[in-house]
Amino acid sequence: MSMVQGLPKVFVAGHRGLAGGGIARALERSGRWQVLVRSRQELDLRDEPAVRAFFAAERPDVVVLAAAKVGGIHANSTQPVDFLLENLRIQNSVIASAHAAGVNRLLFLGSSCIYPKFAPQPIKEESLLDGHLEPTNDAYAIAKIAGIKLCQAYRRQYGARYIAAMPTNLYGPGDNYHLQDSHVLPALIRKIHTAKMLGHSSVLVWGSGTPRREFLHCDDLAEACLVLLDCYDSEEIINVGSGTDLTIRELAETIRRVLGYEGELAWDTSKPDGTPRKLMDSSRIEALGWKPRISLEEGIADAYRWFVEHHPAAHDPSVP
Ligand code: GDP
Repeated sequence: MSMVQGLPKVFVAGHRGLAGGGIARALERSGRWQVLVRSRQELDLRDEPAVRAFFAAERPDVVVLAAAKVGGIHANSTQPVDFLLENLRIQNSVIASAHAAGVNRLLFLGSSCIYPKFAPQPIKEESLLDGHLEPTNDAYAIAKIAGIKLCQAYRRQYGARYIAAMPTNLYGPGDNYHLQDSHVLPALIRKIHTAKMLGHSSVLVWGSGTPRREFLHCDDLAEACLVLLDCYDSEEIINVGSGTDLTIRELAETIRRVLGYEGELAWDTSKPDGTPRKLMDSSRIEALGWKPRISLEEGIADAYRWFVEHHPAAHDPSVP
């Protein structure tokens, strides 16, 4: 008989992603959960009949919904149909199927981009739906807001203990390093690594360098999710951020230092900046006893190690 029998069974949807991967590892490490996962080949989360059958057969006690179509500013602004439709399909099928199978506890992961473009900083949970969204990622944001509302609706209509957490910009091992579609932190690790390897004298960074962003290592998010599963049960959304932001220029300089690249940074101001600032107020989760442990420099070094050891683009710059 397996050691894990008797422990509560948690289904982590999206375990191959940055957030879900960190969460699945942390749940395993805690020794308190039986962790259930399915690859995309085994279960297409957009396929509601398949997801219903999976839930009916496996009957998890808890669901962590970390599966989503995600991407950086370019991917979001050029594929709004995919970001809206795929995310609505995934979250509708997983949340409805979980409820139909009697799952009474679910953690939905949103994003800091659900907040209005000009929300007061640091952004409190109350800013949700208090202003216009940032247009470069409004399709993704609308899908995530619908997911939040669906969790709140299951709580209101059926008393389901569904909660929603809003992580800030995540990074870490297993990130997406696509040249066009990735987020800024992995994109700059890759570009600066390539410039160093090929002896280029400068690296072209998108935008003006002035937007401010907050970054959180996926393992810090994972610890936050364990805390939330243990002790958070409210219809109010809850932010998960590092509490510190920096400009894109400062981020690029930090990555340059960690990677030991001596060339220059050049700025491509034909590329969009996106929202000017996106720092969250995470005092609600800090009051539950969680705080981030991984500094940005340590985290970048960790992500960079993974990139060099596991990503083909580290040795072959022609990989997309
Ligand atoms: P956002 O937080 O939703 O805006 O998503 P991103 O992580 O894609 O972009 C954050 C900021 O970094 C934006 O101002 C981008 O213009 C800037 N940036 C600079 N260089 C890059 C790059 O190579 N890739 C990406 N994705 N963003 C970059």
